[in-house]
Amino acid sequence: MASLSSQLFANALKRIPGGVNSPVRAFRGLGREPFFIDRAEGARIWDVDGNEYIDYVGSWGPAILGHAPKVVLDAIRETAGRGVSFGIPNPLEVEMAELICRWVPSIEKVRMVNSGTEATMSCLRLARGFTGRGKIIKFEGCYHGHVDALLVQAGSGALTHGRPDSAGVPADFAALTISLPFNDIEAVRAAFRENPKSIAAIILEPIPANAGLYFPRENFLKALREECTKNGALLIFDEVMTGFRVARGGAQEMFGIQPDLTALGKIIGGGLPVGAFGGRADIMDQLSPEGPVYQAGTLSGNPLAMAAGLAQLRELERIDGWKLLETAGARFEENARATLHDLKQPWVFHRVGSMFCLFFTPDPVIDLASAKRSDPARFASFFRGCLDRGVYFAPSQFETGFLSTSHTLDDIDRTSAVVRESLRMFS
Ligand SMILES: *Cc1c(COP(=O)(O)O)cnc(C)c1O
Repeated sequence: MASLSSQLFANALKRIPGGVNSPVRAFRGLGREPFFIDRAEGARIWDVDGNEYIDYVGSWGPAILGHAPKVVLDAIRETAGRGVSFGIPNPLEVEMAELICRWVPSIEKVRMVNSGTEATMSCLRLARGFTGRGKIIKFEGCYHGHVDALLVQAGSGALTHGRPDSAGVPADFAALTISLPFNDIEAVRAAFRENPKSIAAIILEPIPANAGLYFPRENFLKALREECTKNGALLIFDEVMTGFRVARGGAQEMFGIQPDLTALGKIIGGGLPVGAFGGRADIMDQLSPEGPVYQAGTLSGNPLAMAAGLAQLRELERIDGWKLLETAGARFEENARATLHDLKQPWVFHRVGSMFCLFFTPDPVIDLASAKRSDPARFASFFRGCLDRGVYFAPSQFETGFLSTSHTLDDIDRTSAVVRESLRMFS
């Protein structure tokens, strides 16, 4: 008999394009159908057929405390008892804004939105409004949500499906986007030379985590900061993924770089649909109703979302979550390296804190071109091998794995045994 997941997917395919509400969920190219989730708790998820998995996707990042943490559920229940949406200011919005500005000092003022995409889209409009310029520099492999102008060489979802650029984005929009190889500061300097006084901003993931996971070279971020300042362009850090994860103050705290604007999302909503963008007060004050740059949202600052996010962030701080995540991440890395060494496999393993990625290539990975050298067939059989043994890693080579504070050392060691079994078939 067909599994419940398989029946649901057949029904979904009739009524939802591709059967999914976001493309990577479709498991394309992996020789598997997606499974449907019944419930999730801590580091584990259960599908509708009763299969249990240790989960390293964590809803693509938000679930940093693991799934369904009690503090978050309590906050949502308590807040919902007083109404779920008002469209009028509520006190939780102020608490959230104050917390963000305290933890991320480059943010002097902040607006809440409903997704990471909205956050980056609003950053671009604001940067263009503030500078009076049109062009944007982005980097190949950096994903910033499905904003028209940013769907150029955009990482995971697009890569997995072999279509780096989306249909429906007019060439005129994309023409304002300059896409450069990550870690190539000379290319950035050349772009500024060739486009004098017309580049509004550089936007990047300070730690690119949507084309696998790789890192900025020594001084790359600092050089970007200098080039932006020198050329009158804004530096925008997209910390939708890294914000509140790699450190309390995100990648900008880790590297000691002050961007002009920052996009946030994922963790900040405690699993509810939230994003935020903020930065220098003089720039943020260009936003409507203070200034001429329009930006709005019916559900922005929604009380349930604010309550869930605040509860999650405060709990992270209370338990010193970043230290726990580093301990868990270090154990995960130690296991992975020992496995690769024992099996004499040359693959590249990257980790920062609770984020990790295994590339099936022996060559260094420093940008999109090198990430794409990873062998997709090897990835697919590794993914299936782990899934069959109860470990769920992201269903794409071009995604990053996430640990949560709910992953115990025992979970990590059990995962390691599964990884070893799944890699053994290549030996
Ligand atoms: C997930 C992500 C986004 C998009 O956020 P959504 O909430 O999916 O719109 C933007 N930038 C980065 C770096 C992301 O990881």
